[in-house]
Amino acid sequence: MQRSRMKRLLSKAYLHLIAGAIALGILTVSIHILWADRLATWQEAEKSSENLLTALARDLGGNIGLLDLSIRGVIQDLGEADLQHLAPELRHRMLFDRAASASLMGSILVLNEKGDVVADAASIVPRSANFSDRDYFTAHQHNPRRGLYVSRPYRSRFRNNDLSIAISRRLSHADGSFAGVVMGAISLTKVDGLFQDLKLGWAGTINLFRQDGLLLMRKPYDEKEIGQDFGTSVHVQRLLQGGSGTFDSVSPIDGIHRVISFGRIGHYPLVLTVALSVEEVFAAWNRKVLVLSFITAVLCAAVVGLTVLFRSELNRRTRAETKLRRLARTDDLTGLPNRRAFRETLEREWRQATRSGFPLALLFIDADYFKNFNDQYGHGLGDEVLRAIASTLDAAIRRPHDIAARYGGEEFAVILPETDLAGAWVLAESIRQAVTGLDIAHAGSPYQVVTVSIGTASVQPSRHRARETLLEAADTALYQAKAAGRNSVRAYEMNEVAHHPGALPHSAA
Ligand code: GH3
Ligand code: MG
Ligand code: MG
Repeated sequence: MQRSRMKRLLSKAYLHLIAGAIALGILTVSIHILWADRLATWQEAEKSSENLLTALARDLGGNIGLLDLSIRGVIQDLGEADLQHLAPELRHRMLFDRAASASLMGSILVLNEKGDVVADAASIVPRSANFSDRDYFTAHQHNPRRGLYVSRPYRSRFRNNDLSIAISRRLSHADGSFAGVVMGAISLTKVDGLFQDLKLGWAGTINLFRQDGLLLMRKPYDEKEIGQDFGTSVHVQRLLQGGSGTFDSVSPIDGIHRVISFGRIGHYPLVLTVALSVEEVFAAWNRKVLVLSFITAVLCAAVVGLTVLFRSELNRRTRAETKLRRLARTDDLTGLPNRRAFRETLEREWRQATRSGFPLALLFIDADYFKNFNDQYGHGLGDEVLRAIASTLDAAIRRPHDIAARYGGEEFAVILPETDLAGAWVLAESIRQAVTGLDIAHAGSPYQVVTVSIGTASVQPSRHRARETLLEAADTALYQAKAAGRNSVRAYEMNEVAHHPGALPHSAA
C-alpha cells in the first residue's frame, strides 16, 4: 500500500516534470527564434538607413560638387586679363560654360565688392540687384581666408522667393583685398523633391545641417525649423562631431524611437542624417511575435491539457486497480478479508513479530453442526448466519492490527499481533459467548442455538520457525475443541512443546 502510493506520487511528479520540460522547450525555441529574428531585423534597419544616407549624400554631394566646380571656373576666368576685352556674349559664354546642368542649381552670380551683380549665368546683361546684405557676402568680406561658404537659408529675389541656400567663394584683388563674391544658389525646394523620392515610411526623417548646427532642410518639411541653430543641442553635436555612424535614440521632439544614420556630404561643411522609425521597421517582427506567441501558448496549453487528461486517466486506472485489488482480497458473502488476504497479513505480521520479538496469536473458528443447519433451514439462511458470525468477529477485534478473515466455508480466522496465548484465549472465549448470545435457533445442534468452536495458538515467531506451525497448532486446538463437544475454546501451548500437539489445552466452558 505504502509503496504503491509512493510509486503513484513519483509517477505524478515525473509526469509534471516531463510536461514542464516540453513546455519549457517550446518556449525556449520560440524565444530563440524571435530573438534571432529581432537581431536580424535590427541589423537590416541599420543597413537600410545607412544605404539611404549613402545614396542621398552622393546625390547631394554630386550636385554641390558641380556647382562648386562652376564657381571655381568663374573665379579662374575672371583672373584672365583679356576677359575684359571680349564681347559681352562671348565673355558670358566663357564665364559660365562650366555651369553644367546640376539639377538643384539656382542662379550663379558674380558680385563686386559693393554687392552689385556684375555677371549672371542666367542673362548676358546681368539683372541688376545688390546682395551686400546676404550673409555669404559679409562672411567673405570680413574673412579673406574663408574658402567655400555655405549660407543660411534665404528667399531668392530672382527666383520668386524660392527657399534657397548659396555656396560661395571670395574674389580678391591682386593685393589680397576684397573684390567681391561668386555664389551659386541651391534650390531647397528641389532638395525637398529629392528627399520626397526616398521611401522612409511615415515616421522616417531626413535632416541637412550645416557643420555648425544650422538646420538647412528637413523632412518632414517644417518652415519654422529651417534656419534654426541646433549647434547647442547635445543630440545634434553628437552628429556634427562624429564623422559618420548609426545609432538609435528616442526623439525629444515627437517621442518616436528611431535608427539614425549620419555622415558628412563629401568634404563640404554639411552633415546629413537619415532616420527610420524603429516601430515601423519592427512592424513585421511584432506581427511575428504575436503569431508565434499564440502558437506557443496553444502548444503549451496542449501540453498542459494532455498532461491533465493523462493524469486523470492514470488516476482513474489507479482507482480501478485499487478497487480490483481490494475486491480480490475481500470475501463476497461476509465482506471480511478472504483467505488470500489472510495469508498476506499473516506473512506480514509474522515478519513484523520476528523483528519486534512480540508473540503472534491465531484463532481458528468453525461453526458447529453447520451441515445440519443448512439441511434444516436452507442454504440461504445458512449464509445469513455466516454473515452474522462475521459481524460478531469484526466487532470483537478492537486493536488496529487485529484482523478477522473468512478462511473458507464456515471457517474463520483471527490474527492477533502482540498477543500471548492467555490474551488470545480471553478473546476467543468472548467470541464464543457472543455467537451463542446471537441466539440463532439451531434444532440440529445439541445446544439448540448456533455455536462455534475455537482453537487458539500463540507463538514467538523467529527465523528458525515455519509459520505453518502456528496454523497447525491452531488447527489442532480447533480439532480438540470439536472433540471436546463443540461450543468450546481450546488453546495450544507451542513455545516449549512445539512438537506435541494435544498436550495441555486450556479447558473450555
Ligand atoms: P462440525 O460441527 O464438525 O464443524 O460439523 P459441520 O457440519 O459444521 O462440518 P462439515 O465440515 O461437515 O460441514 C461444513 C458445512 O458448512 C458444509 C456446508 O453445507 C456448509 N457451508 C460451507 N460453506 C458454506 C456457505 O458458504 N454457505 C452456507 N450456507 N453453508 C456453507
Ligand atoms: Mg468446517
Ligand atoms: Mg463446522
